[in-house]
Amino acid sequence: MRISDDRYSRERLCLQLALRFLEHEARTQTIRAWTGLSDDRIRKLYRSYITRARRYVPRHRGKSPHQVAYFTRSLRVQQETAWLASLLSLFGAVPAQPTADAASALPSVARGELLCHAFEVYREMIPSSQISFEHTVFLATALSRGEQLRLGGCSECGSLVVTERFPIRVKRCHQCASPPPPRC
Ligand SMILES: [Zn+2]
Repeated sequence: MRISDDRYSRERLCLQLALRFLEHEARTQTIRAWTGLSDDRIRKLYRSYITRARRYVPRHRGKSPHQVAYFTRSLRVQQETAWLASLLSLFGAVPAQPTADAASALPSVARGELLCHAFEVYREMIPSSQISFEHTVFLATALSRGEQLRLGGCSECGSLVVTERFPIRVKRCHQCASPPPPRC
């Protein structure tokens, strides 16, 4: 009995997480990687979900985001990335130290829940943010691997910034990089 109880609760957690990912408009391949559910089950879940949803939930197709340059394309996105990365780190969705084995260590139901929690708090803080849930998943994975992106400190004030692993320039935060206001 115990074994089937465990299996039942594990399955329930997977389904709950898949629903949360669907709500955040995650792609099927992302949901599959994080929950282990088959594409067929995810499709069925989506169909039953949209009949009950109070808003239109689009399904995105094609590749998930995979370009780290996205996070540095403007000062605004850089700043938002730093806030999001802070929350991912705070909630434990990103390990304190990057690990080479992130591909197998990161996508799991437990980490997926932490990731959703961090993203939901982030969207409450910055409802107008352009960083999607898929980009958040990509950011968490890249930070966990530490191959392309790392969490670091601003060279002037020490506040958290997301840097490329081998930055070309000394990294400064949004505040320190902006020119000072004109003096009266
Ligand atoms: Zn700074």
